[in-house]
Amino acid sequence: MKCPHCKTSDLKPTMIDEYLPAMGCGTCHGCLLSLLYYRHWAETQKSPATESEPRNSGAALALEPPDTTAAITCPKCARVMAKYKLSGRISNRLDVCSTCDEAWLDGGEWELLEALHLSHKIPAIFTDAWQRRIRRELTEETRRGILTRMIGADGTARVEQFRAWLATTKHRSHIMTYLYRG
Ligand SMILES: [Zn+2]
Ligand SMILES: [Zn+2]
Repeated sequence: MKCPHCKTSDLKPTMIDEYLPAMGCGTCHGCLLSLLYYRHWAETQKSPATESEPRNSGAALALEPPDTTAAITCPKCARVMAKYKLSGRISNRLDVCSTCDEAWLDGGEWELLEALHLSHKIPAIFTDAWQRRIRRELTEETRRGILTRMIGADGTARVEQFRAWLATTKHRSHIMTYLYRG
């Protein structure tokens, strides 16, 4: 099997983690991960206690490894692999062949998953719910960016604070009526 990224190097058996085998490329350090093995590994290997919540940390952002943005063809069946975003703030995407049940991780992407506390949650990334949540986060972020450009960071922080309070107060409807009467 040839590396789908470099196209010329052969994929060789490697270990991503203790008990987690994959087929790795010695040139680009990408690897083809069997999701069948992965699911077994994720079930039997306890995730670190801190891995309860996904996070978007600055450390992980700094780690952002180069992602293969071009379409990747599955080294097993030669079909184009589907791309899934990991999070709203990180451009890296995982490539998956649903036919072969294999995922392609570019070099450094496993470490990125670990830094994001997602290394035990890969199948969740491939769900519609996860991808919808990312799109919502992006829209929200874009809107906040536009407001910040118009009224500044300080004003935006005040608006956010007010909105958060508005969401919890029982007097919400009275306040809205007062504000929107013009
Ligand atoms: Zn390669
Ligand atoms: Zn395939």
